[in-house]
Amino acid sequence: MAEHEPATGPVLAVFAHPDDAEISSGGTLAKWAAAGREVHLLILTNGDRGSSDPWRDRSELAATRSAETQAAAGILGLTSVHVMDVPDGELENTTEVRETVVRRIRMVRAETVLTCDPTAWFFEDRYYNHSDHRRAGEIALDATFPGAGNPHYFAEHLAEGLDVREVHDVWLGWSNDANHREDISGFFETKMRALAAHVSQVEEGIRFFEEELAKEAVAEGGRIGVTHAEPFRVLHLE
Ligand SMILES: [Zn+2]
Repeated sequence: MAEHEPATGPVLAVFAHPDDAEISSGGTLAKWAAAGREVHLLILTNGDRGSSDPWRDRSELAATRSAETQAAAGILGLTSVHVMDVPDGELENTTEVRETVVRRIRMVRAETVLTCDPTAWFFEDRYYNHSDHRRAGEIALDATFPGAGNPHYFAEHLAEGLDVREVHDVWLGWSNDANHREDISGFFETKMRALAAHVSQVEEGIRFFEEELAKEAVAEGGRIGVTHAEPFRVLHLE
């Protein structure tokens, strides 16, 4: 990593569900925002199945989660957040969804795209990855290349005045092949405050998340000699 200048330009984070960004990368996004980078978040589903209550109204839940997402984005210091109206659990890598992501990359002139690793199917022998998470990572990668930088993908954007955009680096959270730990010391508390804003998701208590995520951040931090860190697979696109 030493041979690469740290990026300072706009960031587009792309995730499946309203609370994914906080859980996987909230410390890193807050740190970048605090350093003056523009950090934009695009959420590909509305999270309307994020409840174990069979009587919970899904459209009400989607509206609630959208409001929670805005509150969390404020805590992280994000420049913008958009939530797409795709039903939770039904995310597909379609031309229509890729068009939305390519458009955002071009609009915010993203230098960095941060998403989750679509190759991560299994995590130890404990659980496996949500289909929306795998697809979100795949969609974000496909939109980055070959998409945003090629004028023949969604050429109508150029007619609207947008420019093609070459993304410099891609950061993949929730990876089994992390090659980088980002020091988030001083930002772990911000990450947890942003996660706590997703009230509908932490109704049974933020305690579990605090314990689990703290354990993970401390363990990852220990690998690079800092208090807290988040792991990523980072690609520097040539
Ligand atoms: Zn999720």
